[in-house]
Amino acid sequence: MDHLADIDSNWLKRFRRNSLAWYGKHGRDLVWRNSNDAYRVWISEIMLQQTTVTAVVPYFERFLKRFPNIQTLAAANEEDVLKYWEGLGYYSRARNIHKTACLLVEQQGGQFPDDVAELQKLPGIGRYTAGAIASFAFNQRAPIVEANTLRLYSRLLGYAENPRSSAGQKLLWEFAEKILPQKSPGQFNQAVMDLGATVCTPKAPSCPHCPVKNCCAAFANNLQESIPVPAVRPKITHVEEASVAVGKRGKFLLVKRPEGERWAGLWDFPRFELPETNGITAGNYQELEFQLADQFGLETAIETVVTEIVHSVTRYRIRLYCLQGSVVSGRIKSNGTETAWVSPTRFEEYPLSVTGRKFATLLAGSRQHGVEQ
Ligand code: SF4
Repeated sequence: MDHLADIDSNWLKRFRRNSLAWYGKHGRDLVWRNSNDAYRVWISEIMLQQTTVTAVVPYFERFLKRFPNIQTLAAANEEDVLKYWEGLGYYSRARNIHKTACLLVEQQGGQFPDDVAELQKLPGIGRYTAGAIASFAFNQRAPIVEANTLRLYSRLLGYAENPRSSAGQKLLWEFAEKILPQKSPGQFNQAVMDLGATVCTPKAPSCPHCPVKNCCAAFANNLQESIPVPAVRPKITHVEEASVAVGKRGKFLLVKRPEGERWAGLWDFPRFELPETNGITAGNYQELEFQLADQFGLETAIETVVTEIVHSVTRYRIRLYCLQGSVVSGRIKSNGTETAWVSPTRFEEYPLSVTGRKFATLLAGSRQHGVEQ
């Protein structure tokens, strides 16, 4: 099937009937599906944008326990929200969630709009999330295209071009709209998402057991392994950074990362990019001591490398050297950045990046040396 024009009413009937019948027996029993509460749909969908269902479940449960509704979320401060997002990454999503909650409580009495266009005006809500909220919570006839349905739709259509291109996106969104039934569109959207997630998997899709194989152009032409064409991976850039735990009378300096920076709103040990990717040297120690003096007005002595952590952020592969040192003299100078001297027993109270947390845990507990991957 090359074009939407090839979809006739028989195809549509068969596809909808088979998808929904399969969903009735095999749909996933997910914790956020226990109700059609827009708040639960919204939080789960934002969390799912960045990781797997299995990884999201404990975060979702912990988040909902602390912020059971939009009012409690709006009443919290951003730092508290980030604390409950810690480890999920993509922290701008947590900040947008908080902004949206405040906005809806202040201006809409805490109610979500049920309309896709209105939902898309809210911070952090894109076309897919708007479609999910409108269809799952309000049973609106709103289409969805996300990773699982992108793959499923591309295969159903036998679409061998790039589905992430503007032409591909246009086609798939039109297809998503066309296949939506009038009755129970929310349930139907969940059915196609589950089909994509559990049957039409990225590798080795279960075509012989697929309930819609008789609607699938890729299966008919044995193209399921080559469709969809893979996304182009960005070229990896290697960088080295140093994070310095500067100690003073049993406490360590933490810095709140300012707006516009990676991990804005989270706390971190002072962190610097190293000019070379050749490992840490005595020259680096001096340069870091100079930067600490320049930024914070502190004369410091860096003493040791506590650990190294290798991690990835978008297209960057980062080797992070976690160093420890102490203040020799000076008082912290105000440069507009929020800072705090924090005892290791109180690190838990601060939202930290994943690497910041690893380093903090090492400082708080027994000191370990080595390389973590
Ligand atoms: Fe996916 Fe195979 Fe089903 Fe086609 S037949 S939708 S490729 S699982």
